Formats: sequence, structure tokens, C-alpha cells
Amino acid sequence: MSITIVGGGISGLSLAYFLLERNPDLEVTVLEASDRPGGKICSDRADGFLCEWGVNGFLDNKPRTLELASSLSINPLRSSDAARRRFIFTGGRLRQIPETPPAFLRSDLLSLRGKIRIFYEFFAPRGSGDDETLASFAIRRLGREAYEKMIDPMASGIYAGDPEKLSLKSCFPRIYQLEREYGSLLRAMMKLQREAKRTGRQVGPGPGGTLTSFYDGMEAIVRALLERLGDRVRTKWRVRGINRSGDIYTVQSESGEILETDMLVLACPAYEAAGMLGEMDTSLSETLERISYPAVSVVCLGFRKKDIRHNLDGFGFLVPFRESRKILGTLYDSSIFPNRAPEGHVLLRSMIGGARASDLALQPDERLLNIVLEELFEIMGIRAEPVISRIYRHEKAIPQYNLGHQEVLDEIEEALKAHPNLYITGNAYRGIGVNDCIENSYRLANSMV
Ligand SMILES: Cc1cc2nc3c(=O)[nH]c(=O)nc-3n(C[C@H](O)[C@H](O)[C@H](O)COP(=O)(O)OP(=O)(O)OC[C@H]3O[C@@H](n4cnc5c(N)ncnc54)[C@H](O)[C@@H]3O)c2cc1C
Repeated sequence: MSITIVGGGISGLSLAYFLLERNPDLEVTVLEASDRPGGKICSDRADGFLCEWGVNGFLDNKPRTLELASSLSINPLRSSDAARRRFIFTGGRLRQIPETPPAFLRSDLLSLRGKIRIFYEFFAPRGSGDDETLASFAIRRLGREAYEKMIDPMASGIYAGDPEKLSLKSCFPRIYQLEREYGSLLRAMMKLQREAKRTGRQVGPGPGGTLTSFYDGMEAIVRALLERLGDRVRTKWRVRGINRSGDIYTVQSESGEILETDMLVLACPAYEAAGMLGEMDTSLSETLERISYPAVSVVCLGFRKKDIRHNLDGFGFLVPFRESRKILGTLYDSSIFPNRAPEGHVLLRSMIGGARASDLALQPDERLLNIVLEELFEIMGIRAEPVISRIYRHEKAIPQYNLGHQEVLDEIEEALKAHPNLYITGNAYRGIGVNDCIENSYRLANSMV
């Protein structure tokens, strides 16, 4: 039985690994367009700094990524305790996001009125059950101030998205479910906390968990997978089109090479899958095309510690849209993980672009660098010259689960019924994080063989 996987990101590579774990005799091939598998995961060693050009880590509260790492014999690296402190830039300065109810009451992140409005959440009317945007949900339940200062930056931090378009049900299914079940998020939180005390299990409403990576960065898991998969992974093999004749799929590369396979998995971005399917199934191709990907650039800056007055004591900060700044936020990478900068140096990583400012991410390097330096000066008071700078561009960065995403998924599922042994997976569909990608690949492998 031959299985071909298109796309050598974490979805495709982990799928190949899980398939072979189930049956080592399978003939599995991964076709990767670029010369470097890993997709959005790449850890760049730059003059002693470790710059992540995309994925920074994963949360350790879901088991699959940790289990995969363990079976590949690589040790997870948990973020420091300091990384629990997260900040929002609002009203001209950085303010810590409160972690506990008493800290929330003392915090100046929200005005008194904004705080009182949050308590009204207990009595806010329940939604109709139809899908709604993240913005509409948050304003309805928590009030406009909490939405603008807390929920909007969270949407930037995870999706680089526009909360007025993102679907609550698809992006945050657990929150959607809690409202359905308990009628109020605060009531749900109280009940879940009581439950947690009783059972000793962590059952909060949010994602929870600790940000985790590896000593050599996220790419360690890619390298370990590549070692196991060996020459089953073919690089510089950009798939241009796919077709079916009888029970066999044919896959054609950009250079005209043809490969035949019994089973075919598209684990590449949705817009790429759309292109490949153009001839074989126009309607499925058009459905996939509806998933949009804004641009995001990641700007890594290394500084001498002595040049920075800011203590960088935390995870970093996000910037609400209403602040009209140009960056989405900045992570204090060298405070999160111990070895991201050489002795006496620090590493910052800023994100720019996203669904509401995609063009900004595509500015020329020098302009991008100047924008970030200006922002870091105004937000953090950093005036120093960086000792290194790296800009990583993602022209099509993160798939947006906008309102109607569930319909897109339903249409894909329906269309696939006409194509036995064709599968579609990756971060464009049922979870954008590394944990989701690996979990979905695990489940897919189990359902395929
Ligand atoms: C800037 C940024 C930061 C992120 N940070 C985090 C984070 O900290 N934590 C987290 O959990 N998630 C993060 N994500 C999300 C992350 O992208 C996913 O979790 C995950 O890496 C996606 O993996 P994937 O394999 O589904 O897709 P990708 O990583 O996009 O891999 C798809 C692969 O398909 C290949 N491909 C494309 N077209 C073709 C073709 N025609 N033929 C053959 N191959 C093709 C590509 O070259 C690529 O290697 C981040 C994303 C971005 C953009």
C-alpha cells in the first residue's frame, strides 16, 4: 500500500511517522516543495542567538506533542516562571494581565466601569447558538472595554486575526461550548475550579498549560522526525496538480515528474491544495480557496543586556488594535527560554502584519526594522542599536477561521466522499496550533490504516 503526503510541515511529517508506527511496511512518501522540511517551524542560529522564524512553542496541557517528543527521544524545555507574566500595551504603557481574581480587582488594566461590566457577565443574555464573531461574543458577554483591551489582542496573538471576522465556534470551541452549557463564562469558571479542587485535575476554561519548546528550538522535533523518516521525505518536490484514474492517484510535480499512489494526503496550506485540485474537483478547490491567510513578519532583534533598561521580566506584550500601533506584539524570547541569547545579551521577537494590516508585513526590510525599533522605543523605552536583526516573512502566514469556517469544513468533508483515499489535513481546518496539527495527524493515521 503506497501513501503519499503532500507537505513536509509538522502535519505531514508527524502523519508519516504515525502511519509507520502503525505499520512499518507501508510505503510512505512525503513531498515537500522547499529544500527545507518543517514548514512554519524553523530555528535559526544567528551569531549565538536562537531565532524562531515562526512557531515558538506549544502548550504542555495536551499530551500528543509531548508523547511524540518522548518517542523521538527529545526532551521538552518548559518556559521560565517569569513567562507567566504577560502584558498588554494600553493607555500609553505596559500593564500586566492579572492572573487571579484578587489581582484582577487590583489591576489597572480595565477601568472600574470595565471591571463592573465583567461581573455583569453572569447575567448577560445567552447567545442563540448560531456562530458569531469573536468580537460580537466578547462585547455581548464581557463588554466593549474588556473586548478591546483583552480579547482583541488575544486574537492577534494567536491568529494575527480580525476578531470582527473570526468565528468564535471555530477558533475557541471550548468557550462556545461553555456558554452553551453554563450560560455564563464566570459561572463555568467557578464550577470548573471547584471541580478541579475536588478531582485534582486542571480543568480551566482557557487553554492553560505551560509554553514548551526544546533546547535547540522547535526545529528539534522536525530534525528528529526527519532522522526517522529518512529518504521517504523528498524535498524540492512542489506538487502542481493531482488526478485520479480508477483507484490510483497521480501526483505531478512542477518539473513534470509523475508519481502514482494508492492513498493521497494533502497536508499543505489550503490555498496550495486548492491549486492542485483545480482540475480534478473545481468545487472543492473553490471551497479551499475561501480560507484566507494574511501576511505576518517576525522581526528578531538581539541587544546587549547592558544597553536595555527594561527588565524584560515576563513573556512579552500584545497591543490592542485601538492603540493604533504598528506591531501586534513582542515576545521577550530570552526571558521565556534560557538559551535563546548568548551571555550578556537579550532577544526580542516582534510580530507585524496580520489580518488587519497585512501590507505592513510586506514592507522592505529596512522599513520593517525601523518600524519595530520605533515601536520598541515608544512602548519599552529601548533606544539601543541591536547587535543582530533577522526578518522572517510569512506572506501567507496563518489560516483564518472566519465566520462560516464550519460550513467550509462541512463542504470539504462532503466533497471528499467522492474521492476515496484522498485526505486533507493541516493547520487550516481544525486547530492552528502545533498541538492540533499533531493530534489531527495522529487521528488521521489511525483512521487511514
Ligand atoms: C509566525 C507564526 C508563528 C506561529 N507560532 C506558533 C506557535 O508558537 N505555536 C503554535 O502552536 N503554532 C504556531 N503557529 C502556527 C503553525 O503554523 C502551525 O502550528 C504548524 O506549524 C503548521 O504546520 P502544518 O504542517 O500544518 O503547515 P506548514 O507548517 O505551513 O507546512 C506546510 C508545508 O507544505 C509545503 N508545501 C506547500 N505547498 C506545497 C506544494 N505545492 N507541494 C509540496 N509541498 C508544499 C510547505 O513548504 C510546508 O513545508 C505559528 C505560525 C506562524 C506563521
